[in-house]
Amino acid sequence: MSMSKTRLLSIVVPLFNESASFEAFHASLVAVLEKSIEMPYEILYCNDGSWDDTLKKLTAAAHEHPNIRIISLSRNFGKELATTAGIHEARGNAVLTLDADGQHPVELIPEFVSRWLAGSKVVIGIRTANQKEGIVKRYGSKLFYGLFSRITGMKLSAGLSDFRLIDRAVQQDFIRMTERNRITRGLVEWLGYPREYIKFKAHPRLAGDATYSIRKLSKLAIDSAVSLSISPLYITAYMGAFVLPVSILLGLGMLIDTLTNDPLHLHITGSAYVVVLLLFLIGILLISQGIIGLYLSHIHSETQNRPLYIIDKDSSLGIE
Ligand code: UDP
Ligand code: MG
Repeated sequence: MSMSKTRLLSIVVPLFNESASFEAFHASLVAVLEKSIEMPYEILYCNDGSWDDTLKKLTAAAHEHPNIRIISLSRNFGKELATTAGIHEARGNAVLTLDADGQHPVELIPEFVSRWLAGSKVVIGIRTANQKEGIVKRYGSKLFYGLFSRITGMKLSAGLSDFRLIDRAVQQDFIRMTERNRITRGLVEWLGYPREYIKFKAHPRLAGDATYSIRKLSKLAIDSAVSLSISPLYITAYMGAFVLPVSILLGLGMLIDTLTNDPLHLHITGSAYVVVLLLFLIGILLISQGIIGLYLSHIHSETQNRPLYIIDKDSSLGIE
C-alpha cells in the first residue's frame, strides 16, 4: 500500500446563501471523494454568515458524515476571509479549496490530488471559458488581471481561479500572512513555489446568482493591488514629473506667442490657460490625495489589528 493511505486531504468550501444548491453540490463532492480518492478526507464547510438555510443544511450533512467540520462565521466576511478561515483550520496534508456553487467541477479533484501526490506543492485551476458570464464580467476580469499584473509586477494570468490545492507546507506559510485586505489568489502567487495548472471549463452556477458585484470586484482589485504593491504611490510622482515640464512649456509658449504678436492666430487669452492649468493641477492633487487616502486606510485597518474573522463556535462543528 502506498504512503497516501496515511495522508489526510482537507477540502475547504466557502458558502454564502447557497442553500438552494447545497444538497446537489454536497452529494457530488462526497461521491467523487468516496469513489476516486484513496485517502481519508475532511470537508470544512465555511458558512460565511448566510441568512438562508445553508447552516441548517450543513449541520444536517455533518450529522451524516463524521468527516465534515463546520466553520460558521459570525457574519458575512466575504469569500476571501471565509476561505482563509477554512485554510487556517484545515488539518490535512493538502488543502483543496473550491466554490460551493457547482462552478468548479468536482470531477477534477482526483487530478489535483494526483498532481500533489506526484510532488506539486501548488496546483491551480485555470478557468478557460464561461459562456454564461456577462460581457462586463468577462472584460472586467481581463482588465482586473491586466491592471493587477501591471501594478504589482506579479504575473496573475487571467482565468486563475480559487479552485486550488496547496500542500501543508504552503498552508503553513499562508497562515503567517496576516493582512486583512486580501485576495487569496494574490497571496498564493506571492508565496511562490513551483506551480502546476489544471484547465477547466466553469459550469454554470447550480442556483442563484454570483454575489460578487462590479462594485465589490473593483474594491477587491484596488485593495489587493494596494496591499501587494506600493507602486501606486509612484504614480503621483510620475504625474508631477509630467505636469511640471508641460506647464513650463505651456507658459513659455504663451509668452512667446504673445511677445511675437500671435503668429498662429490662436487668440488664446491668458485666463483660458490659467483655467485649464488649474483644473489639471487640481486633478492631480485630488488623485494624489486619493492614493494617500487609500494607503492610509490600509495602514489604519492593519494597525487596528483586529482578528481577520470571527468564528461563532456555537454553530460551528469540530472547531476548537
Ligand atoms: N461566497 C462567500 N462569501 C461571500 C460571497 C461568496 O463565501 O460573501 C462563496 C459562495 O458561496 C461560493 C464562492 O464564494 O461558494 C464563490 O462565490 P460566487 O459564485 O458568488 O462568486 P464568483 O463565482 O463570481 O467568483
Ligand atoms: Mg460562482
